[in-house]
Amino acid sequence: MAAEVWFDAREELADVLASRETVRRAEAEQVRGIAAWAAARTTSQRGPLRVLPGQERRVPFGGPGSPDVPEFLPAELGATLGLSAFAAQKLLSDALSLVHRLPDLLTLLEQGDVDAWKVRMVAAATRELPQTVAGIIDCQLAASARKGALPRIVRLTRSTLQDVIDHHLLAHTDPAQVTDDHTQAQARRYVAFKPGLDGTTDIAGTLSNEDARRLEQALDDTASEMADVEGDTRSKGVRRAEALGRLVVHPGLAQTVLYVHFDRVSGTWSADGIGTISVDEAESMLGHGTVTIKPVIDLAAQITTTGYVAPPRLREQLRLAQRNLCAFPHCDRRGTIGFDVDHVTPYDSGGATTSSNTHLLCRYHHRVKTHGRWKATKTAPGTTVWTSPTGQVFEIAHGLTTRLRT
Ligand SMILES: [Zn+2]
Repeated sequence: MAAEVWFDAREELADVLASRETVRRAEAEQVRGIAAWAAARTTSQRGPLRVLPGQERRVPFGGPGSPDVPEFLPAELGATLGLSAFAAQKLLSDALSLVHRLPDLLTLLEQGDVDAWKVRMVAAATRELPQTVAGIIDCQLAASARKGALPRIVRLTRSTLQDVIDHHLLAHTDPAQVTDDHTQAQARRYVAFKPGLDGTTDIAGTLSNEDARRLEQALDDTASEMADVEGDTRSKGVRRAEALGRLVVHPGLAQTVLYVHFDRVSGTWSADGIGTISVDEAESMLGHGTVTIKPVIDLAAQITTTGYVAPPRLREQLRLAQRNLCAFPHCDRRGTIGFDVDHVTPYDSGGATTSSNTHLLCRYHHRVKTHGRWKATKTAPGTTVWTSPTGQVFEIAHGLTTRLRT
């Protein structure tokens, strides 16, 4: 007797299943392609006999047992695929780990049996482990409990897969290492701010557990006070966010400079990404009344100095013209506080410290520019054209990247 069928869309669902397999196979092909490209680039690029500070080194991105490849490969891969150097480095590292350390999992991906995110998760989490241990994990996760059953990794969810990986990590970490890890973790603490165009800023960071606990307690206390005493009915999330603002804003004390641009055509002032703005609006945006709107910098002006070091005014002009971003194709680093002012034509070769010969680069891409055989030309304010070591050409204008030639 046929099973009872309520709805029928089986063919369409089969199509979805088939296309998922195609995607998985294509991901495996990309992984092999990236590893093959990295190998070819490594052999075609002769390294210097002795590496001086700042120069490109060779790095085993894929972990122990994976080949050493030129350090700046992620810059090229990122520019090509439209990824930040960080995302490109992850992709390259995962590809090298899979090819050289986790071959069984890569085979599963190639057969369309497992999702790419799962095998990449294993690749990333096991990167520091010795090759032999990675081999054991590879074997265990790709194996089936019995003949005909699905491979173990296919049956695990994200969190249970994480448990299995954690188990291995713990088994192969000695206790002294744990103390070391603790010290290193403390050294990696940071707080980052990512302003959006809608008047809010995303905050990300890592604090010590103790600081985080105290901060959260302080926010909760103020958020509760706002509800109980002030009758604030907004969500707890909004009240906590505002409580954080209250910790740092003291009306009458805080001084904020809001940079605005002057539009020569319409004769109005505007703030980055916000548009035309008045003093009243600036006050409400900042949450207090201590605000001065300063017309600062004409982005088209030529700011020049005779020395090597760029004056703050030039640095600020470059920052505004580059929309706060590094001037390398697809680089996602923002803020520019730690950025370097790069002389497009080097100062030593007669390049002036002037608007048309400088741009801001993050430290990584500054090293790529200086030692990685990339060529840059500044074609307009906020606009740099780059030629990669393999001849690709990209233009980055006010933070937006366009590929001009492959
Ligand atoms: Zn950069």
